[in-house]
Amino acid sequence: MHSSQINSHQTVTIVGAGVAGMSAACALAEAGFRVQLVERRGYLGGRASSYLHPGVNEVIDNCQHALFGCCTNLMGFYRRIGVADQIHWTSDMTMIEPGGRRSQLGPSALPAPLHGLPKLLSASAFSINDKLSLARAFSALMRPVASDSTESLGAWLRRHKQSDGALNRFWRLVIASALNAEIDSISLPYAAKVIRELFLNSAEAGSMGMSRVPLSQLYAPVPAYLEAHGGNLHLNTHTDGAVWDDVRRQWTIHLPFEAMGKLLPEMPEAEEAAHLASQIKRHEHWPICSVHLWFDRAITDLEHAVLLDREVHWMYNQSRLQTGRGGHYIELVISATRSFAALSREAAIKLVLSELEEFFPLVNEAKLEKVALIKEVRATFGVSPDIDSARPSAMSPWPNCFLAGDWVATGWPSTMESAARSGHLAAEALADQAGVPMKCFEADLQPKGLMKFLR
Ligand SMILES: Cc1cc2nc3c(=O)[nH]c(=O)nc-3n(C[C@H](O)[C@H](O)[C@H](O)COP(=O)(O)OP(=O)(O)OC[C@H]3O[C@@H](n4cnc5c(N)ncnc54)[C@H](O)[C@@H]3O)c2cc1C
Repeated sequence: MHSSQINSHQTVTIVGAGVAGMSAACALAEAGFRVQLVERRGYLGGRASSYLHPGVNEVIDNCQHALFGCCTNLMGFYRRIGVADQIHWTSDMTMIEPGGRRSQLGPSALPAPLHGLPKLLSASAFSINDKLSLARAFSALMRPVASDSTESLGAWLRRHKQSDGALNRFWRLVIASALNAEIDSISLPYAAKVIRELFLNSAEAGSMGMSRVPLSQLYAPVPAYLEAHGGNLHLNTHTDGAVWDDVRRQWTIHLPFEAMGKLLPEMPEAEEAAHLASQIKRHEHWPICSVHLWFDRAITDLEHAVLLDREVHWMYNQSRLQTGRGGHYIELVISATRSFAALSREAAIKLVLSELEEFFPLVNEAKLEKVALIKEVRATFGVSPDIDSARPSAMSPWPNCFLAGDWVATGWPSTMESAARSGHLAAEALADQAGVPMKCFEADLQPKGLMKFLR
């Protein structure tokens, strides 16, 4: 019997249509549950979404969202809804110094973990001392770090005597922005995981993906997918409490930690609810800002680049990256800095324009046609040392109620992959409890080359 016939009497309500909620909803719908997906906003995607920005009259993402080859569960969700081919993949990363000198990082034909070495060795952005520093650190991180280590990345880097160039142009920039926090606020096991996945395990795991379409458009098949499986999406619907009659009703809650915190007082009393509340309180937000600029002409041919030694970290040439996007649209991303988030709109735009000129002199000749500044002050939660003890599992203190969201225990930092993993874990836990076990969790990519022997 097809699973939809087995389970079609069972209704699941999922609160929140971010990546976690959508991943769980579609996996459960495929397994035959009737899913009601409830979202307080008028569009899908939560912190990874797009909308019509009234100031510039363009549909833009709240910020460029990058994924990597190792994001197996996010890709599993995209495949389920039929949009995996909308992701544009690239293996090369261009680093630009102020003044314009470029270096290229990326894979070669050498086996992992050596595949990135030739380009790193020829990168002019790093001195010989920086390269030796990085090689020492990478080889120390080839073996997994004990998951209960409470050391911060900053302390570990000092212990491993990293040069200023390695610190500023690699650790503070690439790694701190992937984890969106300052190095002293990042747990070593999380940083080590990012290094292994993006730079050591295989070229495939480290390749970077970007959506060819605005993010909410990427999720456009979700409502039809749910309807085809007997479920529904309810936009503009706020859930402010949870009451159930215990008769075969099941709840799955996919909320960011602060929204879950708001919902807690409205939930029925339960043992362990106080513990969950104390876990939620330990989470801390970090901001990410993006500046979206439209020029009257092209200022660069690059699709994207890492900008060194300045406040702006990443440049994305959206007119080249997104299909059918006309004009000359450049997006700049500034992560892991609370000082930039505190700037006024005028000061922030003035600063990024002056920095952009240092990397792309054509900015001097171009006319800025319009600009949008998006400050997401609650972009991600920090993965500080010992954060794992504040990340609950999918099982909640209440019967038939399951938790998901990037902040629950997935072992991943605050990313779309963590959200998709949590959604799949919650879906499996729910199906298990309903007596119809199913598998939707996607396995990790296996390390390749010599990394196969260093697990
Ligand atoms: C600016 C920015 C840049 C980022 N860059 C990256 C990146 O490059 N790569 C990456 O992987 N990740 C990135 N992230 C992180 C990523 O967006 C998140 O980790 C992920 O989207 C979290 O998904 P989620 O489903 O757990 O939570 P959310 O996206 O927060 O979804 C929760 C949903 O629940 C809804 N909701 C809340 N309360 C209620 C209620 N009471 N009733 C009904 N609905 C409710 C919300 O409206 C929301 O839609 C970035 C985030 C931001 C903000």
